[in-house]
Order: sequence, then C-alpha cells, then structure tokens
Amino acid sequence: MKLLVTGGAGFIGSAVVRQALDKGFEVINLDSLTYAANLENLKGYDDNPKYEFVKADIRDKELMREVISSTRPDAIMHLAAESHVDRSIDGPEDFLVTNIMGTFNLLNAAREYYETLDGDARDGFRFHHISTDEVYGSLGAEGLFTETTPYQPNSPYSASKASSDFLVRAWSETFKLPVVTTNCSNNYGPFQFPEKLIPVVILNALEGRQIPVYGKGENIRDWLYVEDHAEALLVAMQKGVLGETYNIGGNNERRNIDLVTTICSLMDELAPKSHPHADLITYVTDRPGHDMRYAIDASKIERELGWGPNVTVEEGLRQTVQWYLDNEWWWRPLRERGASDRVGLASAKG
Ligand code: NAD
Repeated sequence: MKLLVTGGAGFIGSAVVRQALDKGFEVINLDSLTYAANLENLKGYDDNPKYEFVKADIRDKELMREVISSTRPDAIMHLAAESHVDRSIDGPEDFLVTNIMGTFNLLNAAREYYETLDGDARDGFRFHHISTDEVYGSLGAEGLFTETTPYQPNSPYSASKASSDFLVRAWSETFKLPVVTTNCSNNYGPFQFPEKLIPVVILNALEGRQIPVYGKGENIRDWLYVEDHAEALLVAMQKGVLGETYNIGGNNERRNIDLVTTICSLMDELAPKSHPHADLITYVTDRPGHDMRYAIDASKIERELGWGPNVTVEEGLRQTVQWYLDNEWWWRPLRERGASDRVGLASAKG
C-alpha cells in the first residue's frame, strides 16, 4: 500500500513515516520544509527503497494535482500545517493560507484523482485528515470532548484547523470523497521542535534558563506520546469508517504546572544540578484567548477500531527527557537558530 503523507518532515508526520516504513508501507513524504521541518527526523529511514521525499508546497494547487496524479497513492494522510498557536496570534495569515487553502488544494487534487480510479483502487482509496482537539474550544472543570461536541475554536490556529475539518466534511458529503478525520490531544515525545512546551522546559532546565509558564499554570491539557498517536493514525487510516471522525487522546490530563514540575523532577534525577530545576519556573503573562482545559473522550476509537494508548505519561516523559539529553546533535542547531526564543512558550501544543 502506498501512502502519501503530507508534513512528513514535521514532529508527528515523521513519526507516522517511520512507523509506516517499519510496517512495510510505501511512503511518499510531501513537505515544503518550513522552519518546523527537519529531515533529520527520518535519519536511517531515508535510504529505504520504499521511501520517497517530494519537496512541495500544499499552497500550490497545480503542484498538488501533479504530485497526486503522478504518484498515485492508495491513501493520503494529511498532516502538513502551520501548528504553533503563539505564531498564529502574531501572524494568522500563514495559518489561514496553509491550513485552509492548502487543505482545499489537496482535497481538490484528491477528488480529481479519485475520479480516475476504478475497482479495488477506488474502493480502497481514502483521504485521512489529521486535526486537533483545539477545534472544540475550551472545557470547564467537568466533561470531555466527544466526536459530537460542537466546534468552538478560539485561536487563529484552531479556527484554521476547524475550517479545514469542515472542508473535509463538505468534500465527503458533496463530492463523495472517501474521508476519515481524526482529532487528537497534545502530543509530546522525541523530535518535537524546541518551541513547544515540553522541549522548552527540558532544554531551559538543562541550560539553567528560566522556565516560563503562562498565567498560573492552571490550564489543563491531555497528553499523548507521539508514537501512540502515529499508531492510532495508521489504524484510523486503514480501518476507520468513511465519513467518520475519531478523537484520539491519552487519558492523561495534567495541569501545565504539574507537568512542568514533573519534568523538573525528572531533570533533577537524570541531569542533577546543585539547585532543584523547579527553582527556574517563572510565571509570565497569560496567552490571549488561552483555553482553560482540553480533555478527550477517546472511547470511540478504542471501541470501534481497537486502539488505545500504550505509553503512560510517566514513562513517556521519562523517555522524552532522556531522548533530549541523549540527542543534543538534533536540538542544538535549532536552539542556536533561536527556536526557543519566543516569549510565553510554556503552554499547550501549539
Ligand atoms: P509540525 O509543525 O511539527 O510539522 C508540520 C509539517 O508540515 C512541517 O514538516 C512543515 O514543513 C510542513 N508544512 C507546513 N506548511 C506546509 C506547506 N505549505 N506545504 C507543505 N508542507 C508544509 O506539526 P506537528 O506537531 O507534527 O502536527 C502535524 C499535524 O497534526 C498538524 O496538522 C497539526 O494540526 C496536527 N496536530 C498536532 C498536534 C500536536 O500536539 N502537535 C495535536 C493534534 C493534531
């Protein structure tokens, strides 16, 4: 089976590409290599004869038609996106163009290609759209996001992802494009770009720099280890019922401050210093429109497709801290290019 994975040089996309190759799929990785991409994430996989990299921008409508019609994939897994919430507040336009128009360009090209297919190729084809739980907005102290929770996006990032989810739905309803959509909670793990919460905490702690935490650190997120997400995506891509949406989550709700303190304790153990790393925690002005709580009800994918997370947040955080400690070659050049220099930072995935 040949997969076209968009955004395969990013954090989650590269985990999908690695796992797909491990499982014997053919993979075409389509990525424009923005600041968030890193082909080093695929070191050791890029010489696999079943792997091909195509540098292409989903904002280019004609190019999407060319790539899809010439590579003839059995399925498209669409992860390419602008993904960092703070950047979407500073400059929303790139988010709208890539996440909305880019998704439109892919849907358009996928639809044209799908219409040329017949027999098993047509029956098996699917467009899998990868999205976020942030489209549902913010929860109070109680309740969980289910697949029927109304969309209430609050940031330019989540609004752009919500728009792309609606386009995917419309292409299914109107044009009968076979689609599956998944909405996932916060991911963490190896190869996460050092502007996101968990790498910032680990690397600032390691370098004795302040660890900024938004507001009082009381915002709650549900954390999922990236390899678990990649596995869930491959399951949903193969077994998901067409037209359906599946929420993916880790059943791991944590207040940001508790997560940060846990990482500091792991750093005390794995990279001890004379002072506890938690002394570096500094509270900074909250992000505007900062959603209070996200929590996913992932029972549908568990019940219907048999997927559940394998890695507990305790194990996953330990593995992640150890990975950053062992892989300075990967993050040092990104830090030196200023990847972690933005203010705030210690918040959600985006
Ligand atoms: P990322 O920022 O690490 O990677 C995004 C990738 O997309 C990069 O390789 C980038 O080069 C590529 N890309 C961006 N714009 C492009 C364009 N115009 N054309 C082609 N390629 C382009 O993001 P991530 O954290 O790996 O997230 C991947 C997907 O999963 C996104 O769609 C995101 O919304 C979704 N998601 C992320 C999380 C999370 O916690 N990170 C959770 C749920 C869903």
